[in-house]
Amino acid sequence: MAQHAGNGDSVVEEIPDLSESDEDENLWEDEDTSSEEKVCCLFCEQFCDSVKETFFHCKSHHLIDIGSVIRKHNLDDYGYIKLINFIRATKCTAEKFLSISSTDLWEKEEYMIPTLRDDPLLQFDIEELWEAELMDCHISNQVNEGASSDSMLLKQLQQAKDRASKAEEELQRALNDLHKVKQFAQNLVMNADVKLHTSTGGPIAELREDEDDVYFSSYGHYGIHEEMLKDKVRTESYRDFMFLNPDVFKGKVVLDVGCGTGILSMFAAKAGAKQVIGVDQSDVIYQAIDIVRSNHLDGIITLLKGRIEDVDLPVEKVDIIISEWMGYFLLFESMLDSVLSARDKYLANGGSVYPDLCNITLAAVCDKQKHDGRIAFWDDVYGFQMTCIKKAVITEAVVEVLNPESLISDTCIICNINCNKITIPELEFSSDFCLKITRGCLCTAIVGYFDIFFEKNCMSKVMFSTGPQNPRTHWKQTVFYLEHPIEVKQGETLQGKIEVRKNRKDPRSLIITLCLNNVKQTYILQ
Ligand code: SAH
Repeated sequence: MAQHAGNGDSVVEEIPDLSESDEDENLWEDEDTSSEEKVCCLFCEQFCDSVKETFFHCKSHHLIDIGSVIRKHNLDDYGYIKLINFIRATKCTAEKFLSISSTDLWEKEEYMIPTLRDDPLLQFDIEELWEAELMDCHISNQVNEGASSDSMLLKQLQQAKDRASKAEEELQRALNDLHKVKQFAQNLVMNADVKLHTSTGGPIAELREDEDDVYFSSYGHYGIHEEMLKDKVRTESYRDFMFLNPDVFKGKVVLDVGCGTGILSMFAAKAGAKQVIGVDQSDVIYQAIDIVRSNHLDGIITLLKGRIEDVDLPVEKVDIIISEWMGYFLLFESMLDSVLSARDKYLANGGSVYPDLCNITLAAVCDKQKHDGRIAFWDDVYGFQMTCIKKAVITEAVVEVLNPESLISDTCIICNINCNKITIPELEFSSDFCLKITRGCLCTAIVGYFDIFFEKNCMSKVMFSTGPQNPRTHWKQTVFYLEHPIEVKQGETLQGKIEVRKNRKDPRSLIITLCLNNVKQTYILQ
């Protein structure tokens, strides 16, 4: 399309020749030069740097979109020239222009005469306007096309803005709800088990044979037995108990529940037992058979593969049950359930289960460095915040060895177990506790550990402890980190309550709820 012409040095009297002669082409050939001229706004005294800027200014300051006006009235080049000249000649205000609904007012031929000399607006190719609009403001174009007037366009824009901010609000609400649902689901998973088992005598999780394959296959590898055998505190305690109390074993029938490599069966045989029956469901039993034979104890020791709950023993009753059933925090693994069911099925009247006594103990811990390494760590990971992970980290009880120096309270036993008397439902319990602070500090965690006693009928009592003040064992300690450490003073007491339950979905894992200073936190040990 040809350039629109403002012909002459000043306001001209005649209608300009708009023919596309070469001469005319030359006159207007330098488009850029004309666009460099300052352009006076149609509705105020403001000068803009270009035609497009002028149109933008008209739109943003006077709410008049020239492109939309051209489209609305379907103006051709002549119509456009008349429009510009009409506005300038009549000094039409924006308000007045907005009220004009037809082109009648600038239809007259006189408006072909430029009102302003060299008016760059008259040299503008309106097709450029379409292109610019299409490229720069595609969305606004769409709105424009649907709009029947500028005020309608504005109304539509406002409505779109309102819809967008409403949608944003709704999205935020949905995200908040989602967060709440997530937290609710998390609590449900963690606490469902707790609720189901809060009253004694409530439903107890069953150890299902098919679900136990993983558990037993973990004992099939020699590595785990090597670790246990190398735990001298553990193994020597069992040995000492049997060797130092031969009277207890002499001529007795002994059942070794979960015999593993057969070590306890061999101690019992050496201690004077008449007959020892070792039972184990894991494949380690095949090694045990070899071991027993190699040590020429196969005349005393009989080994059976199977779950103690399912096997048929070659005897009806036994005098003694020995077993090393203890897991982390004593009750993890729930193997004591199997020992107690064997006790109830096979132990003769007056018989004994060893170890016979055990307890679980708690103490307060101050170890800022360990707490930071585990919890605060997530606040700044290579400069990124991963704080949300802290919630998950806190809920996991940690099995680790503590520095005895980090203990800041006396100890409190939360549960005493007599293996000759306790019932399976009693292995889920709750207990109040009270820890007297021995050193003012920041309490960053509560530690749990257990002690084991061989005492019944024993001339030489034997015990061992898995506490941090004692030589380390493979059970280490179980640490419950506090999300918000508590400032404690020497002499004050830290009151709390602990609940220990089996996880309904995985009865070998434990769910432990600690309430300290009225803050409740549920931990899982798995
Ligand atoms: N008595 C051995 C091994 C102790 S580890 C020692 O002191 O070194 C516990 C063993 O008990 C594992 O080998 C495991 O396979 C076995 N065990 C656990 N629950 C059992 C059950 N219900 N029936 C049979 N064996 C079981």
